Amino acid sequence: MAANAVIDKAKTVPQGTRPAVVDCDVHPVLPSPNALLPYLDEYWGDQLVAALAPSYEPNYHPRGSAIAQRPDVAIGPDGRAATRPEDLVKDVFADGFTDFAILNCLYGVQQIHQPRREQAHTRALNTWIAREWLDLDPRLLASIVVPQGTPEAAAAEIDHWAGDKRFTQVLLLGQSELLYGRQCNWPIWEAAERARLPVAIHIGGVFRQAPTSVGWPATYLEWYVGQQANLEAQLSSIVSEGVLQKFPNTKIVVSEVGFNWLPPYLWKFDKLWKSYRPDLPWVDRLPSELIREHVKFTTAPSDGAELAGNLDKIVERMGSQDMLVYSSDYPHRHHTGPRGIEGGTKNKELLDRIYRHNAWDLYQLSVPTSGEAA
Ligand code: ZN
Repeated sequence: MAANAVIDKAKTVPQGTRPAVVDCDVHPVLPSPNALLPYLDEYWGDQLVAALAPSYEPNYHPRGSAIAQRPDVAIGPDGRAATRPEDLVKDVFADGFTDFAILNCLYGVQQIHQPRREQAHTRALNTWIAREWLDLDPRLLASIVVPQGTPEAAAAEIDHWAGDKRFTQVLLLGQSELLYGRQCNWPIWEAAERARLPVAIHIGGVFRQAPTSVGWPATYLEWYVGQQANLEAQLSSIVSEGVLQKFPNTKIVVSEVGFNWLPPYLWKFDKLWKSYRPDLPWVDRLPSELIREHVKFTTAPSDGAELAGNLDKIVERMGSQDMLVYSSDYPHRHHTGPRGIEGGTKNKELLDRIYRHNAWDLYQLSVPTSGEAA
């Protein structure tokens, strides 16, 4: 499909095309901090060489852990997957099914707590992605990494890349310095809406403070399990502070946090909103309605939805077939393969929504149907 892939921002699926199958969460890995050198100016480059700017590789999934990489993916020279674009392209598109993949680079520039250095490294990282990954294959797309410690600078980074249609969304991390609903973060939402880009909130953090609300965990396990609570807090903040009323075209993609937890969360959010609504009159609809309208969730990890009939039950409780989008989370290894959720339903229409139509709602990506079986 590579030669014919098109980036189309039409409002309706153009004739002779169908909505593309988009893998919404794929992770390229920076092979070394020095890979950024060609994209840093002399000052920041000298700092990197002098080892004043160390590696910010976040090590979210420790290298030896089962989750770090799938056994079937290509491994680079240093034992890590996804450090070479040709490996990623080969692995992600090997299924002959995926039309586009969105690169969410997790190299931790957001953990640089010196704002000017964070901004310089972020610009270098996005430029590295554009030159060394996106230029390689038209099926590769990417999220704009932003220096989220300074929201105005994050907005400027979005504006800078908005003209490059290969950047199809903005990337934020689940644990921020201040909740994303806070008005000081609104420049990010404003810029994303101006650029008509969804905002992905992926597991990860800026580590300006403890990554759980009650302090520092002792193990990776606690950290990873705790990501779900962080995302609940972010959605509660975004809805309660009125982001979705102020920026009504906002679209959010919650990534690598699962979705099985969503129905009871929505139920509780609605119930308590009815009690507290005089405190926040600007939230004029049920939180669940706002979240159904504005937020989608990636399918990996599926956390049990892949078991027979479970996906149907979860989607029924979510109250919408429009909230899930496909992701493999390459190269991470979860308890099922990339398309494991197919075990959870026999509903072909639902799978078609997850693989194609819901991603269309976010990205308006299509591919020609010529030569495809009906
Ligand atoms: Zn991921």
